[in-house]
Amino acid sequence: MIKLEKGGKFHTTRTIKTLALNGVDLRVGAGDFLAIMGPSGSGKSTLLNVLGMFESLDEGRLILAGENVSALGHAQKIALRRRLIGYIFQSFNLIPSMSVHDNVALPLKYRGVAKPERRQRVDQILEVFGLEHRAGHHPAQLSGGQQQRVAIARAMVCRPGLILADEPTGNLDSKNSRDVLAQLKKINLEGTTVVMVTHSQEASNYANRVMTMRDGYLE
Ligand code: ADP
Ligand code: MG
Repeated sequence: MIKLEKGGKFHTTRTIKTLALNGVDLRVGAGDFLAIMGPSGSGKSTLLNVLGMFESLDEGRLILAGENVSALGHAQKIALRRRLIGYIFQSFNLIPSMSVHDNVALPLKYRGVAKPERRQRVDQILEVFGLEHRAGHHPAQLSGGQQQRVAIARAMVCRPGLILADEPTGNLDSKNSRDVLAQLKKINLEGTTVVMVTHSQEASNYANRVMTMRDGYLE
């Protein structure tokens, strides 16, 4: 699913140049559940952004589902991301002015799925996540745990092969964290590959494999 070879990435500001990824080698097979831990500033989010094709590599090579990402143009990357990847953020990133239903429907809309089918698929996935009674609510009317479940439903509605989650339980209390992790585990057991960045030892227990990032190195 993921083959990253000697991945290097610099962040440059006016005054400093940071080596955020330093020759990172990573292989993740289909169906794997990888947790990435490590101190703040060690490059975890940069790595996930590279894997999600939100940022490009300065060095090395990334292959996602057999596609050489470095050789793709901007539009092709967007198309591959929509086809392959669901992304979950620490801060949920739901659109506040839209209902739960419309938030979850958004990826289907981008893919050109017609409205009746959108409605059907959104209703179905909201039921899977126990959110069917919240379809008309707006994000601010939900708890943090519910908002993150909506975000996972949104990430899953196109049935992506790969879920990238950046500290998905970072803003949640322990009960809501366990609910969210149980959902991710379930999705993984149904065949979706998961790469999750986390600070939490407990969260990493849900993964099959744990790696640690330090100063741009992954080990
Ligand atoms: P983590 O997610 O592990 O906390 P990040 O990947 O966010 O780490 O950051 C890695 C390093 O790159 C840090 O030193 C951070 O300050 C720097 N960095 C991250 N994003 C940017 C950016 N957009 N511009 C400049 N420096 C950045
Ligand atoms: Mg981070």
